[in-house]
Amino acid sequence: MAGKHIVILGPPGSGKGTQAVRIAEKLDLRHISTGDVLRDAVNRETKLGLEASDYMNRGLLVPDELMLGLIAEKLAEIGDSGWILDGYPRTLPQAEALGGMLAEQDMRIDHVLLIDVDSEVIVKRLSERRVCSKCKAVYSLSTLESPDEACRKCGGELVKRPDDEEDTVRRRLKVYEEQTAPVVDYYRNGGLVTVKGAGGIDKITAEILRVLQ
Ligand code: AMP
Repeated sequence: MAGKHIVILGPPGSGKGTQAVRIAEKLDLRHISTGDVLRDAVNRETKLGLEASDYMNRGLLVPDELMLGLIAEKLAEIGDSGWILDGYPRTLPQAEALGGMLAEQDMRIDHVLLIDVDSEVIVKRLSERRVCSKCKAVYSLSTLESPDEACRKCGGELVKRPDDEEDTVRRRLKVYEEQTAPVVDYYRNGGLVTVKGAGGIDKITAEILRVLQ
């Protein structure tokens, strides 16, 4: 049987990326993070990367036309497997386009999961976030022995994302409120489930697995 199709929504810094990786592993799903796909394109300086980087560094959304092409390509590549979509859709046109693409293939979204976290918690969390430049593992400065520590998984350098600077985080939160909160409302009648994103990572994962059953 084909796996589940899950969309995970939440403000930047809600922990949706961390949880998406864990849920993908537990439920044997492919994890699609549009942020990771874009950052990889920026690093490789592809046409998409060159077009997207300025928006990303300013904390703005990449235009829908670019995102629709990217997501169509990813879904085609994945085919029949189940997936968890992390970072898409972020606007109403993206949500509508996703619904259309899935309907064409007789597929549907099984669950939409919202991770809910307070803005001030997010600003603090993101200013402390460090990401491995090689394997993308995520750390918090508060749990590292020193700010220069290497990635515990692969030895890669830990870096601060350019869009995790405080001003940019505040702009990203505003963009979320204006453009992505309507997507949450769009799914309210379509199987949306909410999980509180505060507390330990393991506890949140357990709660997500519970509500997805
Ligand atoms: P994330 O890693 O999900 O926080 O994404 C980082 C940045 O990538 C966002 O702030 C946007 O600039 C861009 N991005 C990722 N996904 C999307 C999307 N679905 N629509 C528009 N921009 C996106």
